[in-house]
Amino acid sequence: MRFSVQAEEALRRGGRRITPMRRALLLLLEEKKPLGPRELHRELRRRGVLVDRVSVYRNVATLLSLGLVHRVLGSTAVRPCAQRSPSCHHAIVCTSCGAAREFRSGAVEKALAALRVRAPGFVVQGHLLELRGLCQRCTA
Ligand SMILES: [Zn+2]
Ligand SMILES: [Zn+2]
Ligand SMILES: [Zn+2]
Repeated sequence: MRFSVQAEEALRRGGRRITPMRRALLLLLEEKKPLGPRELHRELRRRGVLVDRVSVYRNVATLLSLGLVHRVLGSTAVRPCAQRSPSCHHAIVCTSCGAAREFRSGAVEKALAALRVRAPGFVVQGHLLELRGLCQRCTA
């Protein structure tokens, strides 16, 4: 199912209204590479969606809290979630154009779980991991 459709359902289940701004935001995230609130705001206005930047920040925060989008590590850009499960959500991000794709790897999770024993004195609560590379378009 398409991200925007899935996300609208999740918002509805969470008792949130689907405002025209939210719909435009979801469609934008679906078709574009990860964008930060500033760029999302600019792009929405360019498309004639009149909205102030504070609302964009607030709506992005809502989408993040519902797990519908994730932040690209070390940036303000957000990317749509490809899975609807509470598991780990890692991505590979293109260093040239910023395109991102989510992936799942049982082998990676197993290896990271095994690393826990190497952190004596710490209670490991989670991990952040993102791969960097070049997408197909940027290597062509
Ligand atoms: Zn995800
Ligand atoms: Zn993981
Ligand atoms: Zn690329």
